[in-house]
Amino acid sequence: ILQLYQPLNDFGSYYKTIQKNLVDMEKMLDLMHEPLEIEDPSTAKPLEMEKGEIEFKNVSFAYDERIPILKNVSFRVPSGHTVAIVGPSGGGKSTILRLLLRFYDIQEGRILIDGIDVRDVKQYDLRSKIGVVPQDTVLFNNSIKYNVSYSKPDATDEEVAAAAVAAQIHEKILGFPDGYETKVGERGLRLSGGEKQRVAIARTLLKNPQIVLLDEATSALDTSTERHIQKSLQQMTANRTTLIIAHRLSTIVHADQILVIKQGKIVEQGSHDELMQTENGVYFRLWNKQLKDRLKIKSKIKRISRT
Ligand code: ATP
Repeated sequence: ILQLYQPLNDFGSYYKTIQKNLVDMEKMLDLMHEPLEIEDPSTAKPLEMEKGEIEFKNVSFAYDERIPILKNVSFRVPSGHTVAIVGPSGGGKSTILRLLLRFYDIQEGRILIDGIDVRDVKQYDLRSKIGVVPQDTVLFNNSIKYNVSYSKPDATDEEVAAAAVAAQIHEKILGFPDGYETKVGERGLRLSGGEKQRVAIARTLLKNPQIVLLDEATSALDTSTERHIQKSLQQMTANRTTLIIAHRLSTIVHADQILVIKQGKIVEQGSHDELMQTENGVYFRLWNKQLKDRLKIKSKIKRISRT
């Protein structure tokens, strides 16, 4: 296993990358036996996650105390619900996910999972019990089977295939030259962004966490990939508490609740229909802009496929 991490021998800088991009939580978990930046208190308890309810209570946070990032942010994600976070770049969306995983400690307020402060539980527990699907999944130079089953190495072939079916990637894998044994990654078959994200979704399905954090990819997808992604997301988020940094209109519309974050504050909050009623509100404008961009992309794709 160590060999896998040879290029990552600088744990400190790798930890920083993870903090930043939420990449590869599973790799992170293996590395967590190294000293941590934030230490567990001696009284840290195991995390007994029952319902997987998330609550931010008056949370204020700054990476550098001179520059406040989150300002008095409060919201609740009831068990099994999906909450989408949207808003302009730099507003603090990813920071919210990082704080839930306790990559940083907050200055004010509380972050609770099932009523327990994340500072009071073992970090390893916290991170092993929350599923994370990052924007960009880095694959290991190994078989696709190894990559899918990474979150549950003892999974049977049937379990791996079932997760891949639910993640809408099984058929694709069967079409690879050596099926599940096909080598992927830098030195093997290269997968597209959408395929990599579905591998991450399959991993998460195998891990079966009660809470899922998802940083949706921003890149434009063709209609059939989009459909596959949507289906696999539905499988993953059903009955799980889900917090999504959302970019896709289809995801946003289906969320139970949407938080609009701007300059570190929740400026609007509600369902898609509720938020659309505030004409010229932040959400209303964001949505219309995305709609326009999407139409532009669609006609671009059409033009390219014609040539
Ligand atoms: P985007 O949509 O572009 O990903 P975001 O809404 O997710 O943006 P965050 O990544 O949460 O925004 O960043 C919020 C602010 O915090 C930004 O101004 C960013 O520059 C700053 N920031 C993020 N990470 C750090 C860090 N490690 N140290 C200092 N400032 C940071």
